[in-house]
Amino acid sequence: MALHHQQTDENTTIEQIKGEVREFISDRDWEQFHDPKNVAMALASEVGELLDIFRWVKSDDSFNILSDKDTYHDVQMELADIAMFLMDLATICEVDLTSAVMEKIKINNQRYPIEKARGIAEKYTKLAARSDKPNPE
Ligand SMILES: [Mg+2]
Repeated sequence: MALHHQQTDENTTIEQIKGEVREFISDRDWEQFHDPKNVAMALASEVGELLDIFRWVKSDDSFNILSDKDTYHDVQMELADIAMFLMDLATICEVDLTSAVMEKIKINNQRYPIEKARGIAEKYTKLAARSDKPNPE
């Protein structure tokens, strides 16, 4: 099941990506190393590699550094590493990513109602407390 070079988010399913990652691992007899703990650690390590690209970059500059071709490519490759370990972790934990994401969006919709959360970057626990206080405006 080889994916083609021109495959994009628009024409590829999560199931296909999961299959491609699974095949890569199985061709190398690496399933023996891919338990939930190891893959979760690998995923976190790759997130660390992504963070390293942005380390000490001012928030205002974090979009600007992406116009550098090499930096943009580095971000692409770290996101790919993260995506692949995420797919692998979902596979071995038997989690259907789409239904999990849809369930979590539903939960977040309840935690962050638009009328209370719009334009406010606060965690839902603080947001709930905030809404109990009288509006200062
Ligand atoms: Mg990496």
